[in-house]
Amino acid sequence: MPIKYEVEITDITVCFYCKKDGLTENDQYCPDCGFPQRGSLQEQKSFLCDSDNREIEMGQQKLTLGFARYILFFIAVVNLVFGIIGVSYTTNEINYVPELITAVIFMFLGVWAVKKPFPAILTGLTIYVVMVIFKGILLPQTIFSGIIMKIIIIVFFCYGVADAKRYENNRRKTDGLKKNK
Ligand SMILES: [Zn+2]
Repeated sequence: MPIKYEVEITDITVCFYCKKDGLTENDQYCPDCGFPQRGSLQEQKSFLCDSDNREIEMGQQKLTLGFARYILFFIAVVNLVFGIIGVSYTTNEINYVPELITAVIFMFLGVWAVKKPFPAILTGLTIYVVMVIFKGILLPQTIFSGIIMKIIIIVFFCYGVADAKRYENNRRKTDGLKKNK
């Protein structure tokens, strides 16, 4: 615990952390943010420390989520470019419909991930894995092409899914804390 946390409660009816007022003797913990208003000094300091740690964690989780979102857009752009090149060099445009559909889906997922990172990245991971397997069955010779890239994408999506879940949990707690701040 490198930072010193000072707790000095001047008014016991006002939450030290979120400033909610009207706390009574029965409110051992603040009903809004859970601050141990009538707890021990140790409890209070560890509450403040936890909430700071949560902020730091969320900063790191945001970076992972940003990267996962970047991969969603990356897949969209690659498919879009392949689709457009394909369509302009072939007489059989229908062959490139899957690329264009994939581009649209991943573009949508990338935008959705800004608001709802967990379902968006999880959907992206699922679709991507299904696509790799499906293509591997149809064209077995493609399964090892760009295998490193495929693994990197899948690994980062997995990190993204895990961190999105943690981030949403953290945000739920923080939102509770900030309600009255
Ligand atoms: Zn409070």
